[in-house]
Amino acid sequence: MRNQTILVIGAGIGGLSFALGAQRAGCRVIVCEAASQLGEVGAGLTVSPNATHALEFLGLGEAMARLSDRPESGAGYHYKTGEILYRTQTSGSFKAKYGADYYQIHRADLHDALAAAVRANDPNAIRLTHHFVGMEQTDKGVTATFSNGQTITADALIGCDGLRSGVRSVLFGNENPRFTGQVSFRGMVPADLVRHCMVPTRSGVFVGPSRIFTRYFLRNLTLVNFVGICKTDSWKEEGWSTPATTEEVLAEFEGWHECVQTIIKATPPGKLFKWALFDRDPLPVWTKGRVTLLGDAAHPMLPFLGMGAAMAIEDAAILARCIAAAGTFEEAFARYETARKERTTYVLLKSRAQGELYQSRTPENLKSESGTGEFRLGLFDYNPGTVPV
Ligand SMILES: Cc1cc2nc3c(=O)[nH]c(=O)nc-3n(C[C@H](O)[C@H](O)[C@H](O)COP(=O)(O)OP(=O)(O)OC[C@H]3O[C@@H](n4cnc5c(N)ncnc54)[C@H](O)[C@@H]3O)c2cc1C
Repeated sequence: MRNQTILVIGAGIGGLSFALGAQRAGCRVIVCEAASQLGEVGAGLTVSPNATHALEFLGLGEAMARLSDRPESGAGYHYKTGEILYRTQTSGSFKAKYGADYYQIHRADLHDALAAAVRANDPNAIRLTHHFVGMEQTDKGVTATFSNGQTITADALIGCDGLRSGVRSVLFGNENPRFTGQVSFRGMVPADLVRHCMVPTRSGVFVGPSRIFTRYFLRNLTLVNFVGICKTDSWKEEGWSTPATTEEVLAEFEGWHECVQTIIKATPPGKLFKWALFDRDPLPVWTKGRVTLLGDAAHPMLPFLGMGAAMAIEDAAILARCIAAAGTFEEAFARYETARKERTTYVLLKSRAQGELYQSRTPENLKSESGTGEFRLGLFDYNPGTVPV
């Protein structure tokens, strides 16, 4: 299917990863993004070996190695005492075990690398200020409409427009995501201010009743990224960039280990944010005709396994491979759904379950766990560049 034109709605990590894969498969790609500027929020992202395989398949192996930090292991800590409750990856490197590294990267760095690679293939591939509002399809193509008054016609359209996907609403109706009763706080701290609270080779999560607090290095050990997730019933605003105050985050983690308090207090003003967590049930079908969904648009998931972006990146590599291998979009999308639905549904449901595990048990019970979910579930043993499609 070389030389086909594919319209991608949404220039997030999923949309740009797919755009790169489709370009490499010989297609012309037009990525339409609602925002007037390209960018990602200032937050960290864990990229597990399964996603690293996909990024290597897309040609970003060198960039990932250059831009990322590499933890050698992880640990769960008691929220008050700091006692290690469990360890993950106690022997050998991720690369030796899974064939690819486990990375921690600034979201903006990955996003910039993806956008640069897409633009290197086609400087005009990404169109900003294109907010998708509707589409019509015939047996020959799809025409999308944007709020700036423009229309664009292509051979196929991929909805990569995230949790509140407009493409998903047009295809399958407008059912709103559910508020989960959980709120996240995130921040970034210059590492020199909190180095005594960190182990360079180990990422870690403090686990307490109804709360977790995870923190890890970014940008060659110069920044520390943290995310705290708390149960609440009082706040429902969605979005990554609602400011939070030091006092309100400290109040959520009152009585927690000194390192947790130190990291929160050291976060510069203006670098603390909060957002609510929303959830959707798995969608039975992702495709209608020449249109399909990818990433959070198809299967948004809670962050407790750190797998949402990883699944979007996996989708991207697999969909690009299906398009390269198939004779029609109908065949490509059928092969894509067959390859992806079972795995993403499993990870979505297990992410929910991991949240319950973290937040309903007393931390001491985690001592009986042989590490956190993604290790026990075998999610890293998957190579999107080589699995059958
Ligand atoms: C607290 C938290 C921590 C997380 N940590 C991790 C982690 O460590 N590892 C991991 O793998 N995942 C993690 N995730 C999940 C990850 O952030 C998401 O799964 C991932 O960003 C999904 O990418 P996407 O490209 O599908 O969607 P998005 O990143 O949401 O991108 C969608 C894009 O579409 C654009 N858009 C939206 N509507 C329109 C429209 N109508 N027209 C045009 N453009 C539109 C948006 O502006 C955006 O650019 C975390 C999530 C949360 C909430």
